[in-house]
Amino acid sequence: MSDLTGRTVELLRTMIRNRCVNDGTPTSGEEVRNADVVEATVAGPGVEIERYDAAPGRTSIVARLPGRDPAAPSLCLMGHTDVVPVSPDGWTHDPFGGELIRCPDGIDEVWGRGAVDMLNLTSSMAVVFRDLADRGFRPRGDLIYFAVADEEAGSAYGARWMAEHHPDAIRADHVLTESGGLHTGSAEAPRISVSVAEKGVAWRRLTVRGTPGHGSMPFRMDNALVTAAAVVQRLAEYRPPPQFHELWRNQVAAMGVPDELKERLLDPAEIDAALDEMPSAALATHLHACTHTTFSPNMLTPGAGGRMKTNVIPDIVEIDVDIRTLPGEDGDDVAEHLRTALGDELVERVEVGTLIDDRASISRTDTALWDALRRAIEVPFPDARLNPQFTVGFTDARVYREMGAVAYGAGLFSPALDPADFARRFHGHDERIDVESLRLTTELWERVVLDLLG
Ligand SMILES: [Zn+2]
Repeated sequence: MSDLTGRTVELLRTMIRNRCVNDGTPTSGEEVRNADVVEATVAGPGVEIERYDAAPGRTSIVARLPGRDPAAPSLCLMGHTDVVPVSPDGWTHDPFGGELIRCPDGIDEVWGRGAVDMLNLTSSMAVVFRDLADRGFRPRGDLIYFAVADEEAGSAYGARWMAEHHPDAIRADHVLTESGGLHTGSAEAPRISVSVAEKGVAWRRLTVRGTPGHGSMPFRMDNALVTAAAVVQRLAEYRPPPQFHELWRNQVAAMGVPDELKERLLDPAEIDAALDEMPSAALATHLHACTHTTFSPNMLTPGAGGRMKTNVIPDIVEIDVDIRTLPGEDGDDVAEHLRTALGDELVERVEVGTLIDDRASISRTDTALWDALRRAIEVPFPDARLNPQFTVGFTDARVYREMGAVAYGAGLFSPALDPADFARRFHGHDERIDVESLRLTTELWERVVLDLLG
């Protein structure tokens, strides 16, 4: 193991053990623990560091190696420091042990929550930043390392808060963050995924009202929970028409499926039937999300500080709906979808509140950052081509794209990793990363920085 990779491994293990678990409540996360260790990692002569607390314990760190040319474009390496909760029963090893384990096939892996989402990247970025500073590297434009809190719950105490309160502290022309670096295609002609676009996030809270009463006398009562159930059912059954964004054709072309299926996936009149008939539900789910606005009613709670009780007919119920929009759609489109899904009668029964309203975002690929990334990936994989991806989840890249930056989700993983298997580790059981992938990613960041800012 090289010295640099070894430092990434150790920092990653420490960050996993810090268990900065973000469950969506304002006091969770406690990212200050990971902020402290990354600050200690990047601090040193020539490095400017600022700490920001969006709320107690919700600390983000911005470290900067000032550029020698104020007019030259800057690069930000951005990693979030929080992780999602675990269900420990599903794990083979302690999810917060940060253990380094050798598998039976001889591969060394770091285990624990955050090993792929995304403490692997956050730690390797910090190690590279520190190494460049130690070597006396003076970048052309500013090199920024941004360790950010609260990505997993929508960024209100992280990137979104920073963009609103301290935009100049994080502003950058180019940004690298999570969600890329997987190999697809053949070993002779590999393609490496780079995330260049994301769906929009339009979380809504639907409030349904009824009339309270005694549970012993339900006949002809207006039970808000019964109305909410109808709303949930309509959302689950809603089938909005497909829409093809500009990366869809490329995505289909790169898929290892028969040509006949590819044609159907590119035909707006055929794709829905093709997805219905697809043997792999997991693949159909993903391809559906790539081509449709989606509505997932995920949370139902008593409204207005009330509570539900077995013998009380509830008068107010809230339904949180995770809506993800396609490029070009805005809040008006979301309202129109809801009207269509619920129908005229039911839509009158709900008040729609906005929890998050971030539009889909996309970065161009004819950029200096893209070219630097390509050259850096070609060093270990000379035949590889970059494969621009549309991501159905969100990352903090969307905040930067709104600010005008070119932002990519990148990384570089071992060719042995199966993309479908890897995807299941995100927010799943037995999250882990092999040391070879940590080496490839660490070296990738260093090459990109030297190429772009050298
Ligand atoms: Zn993440």
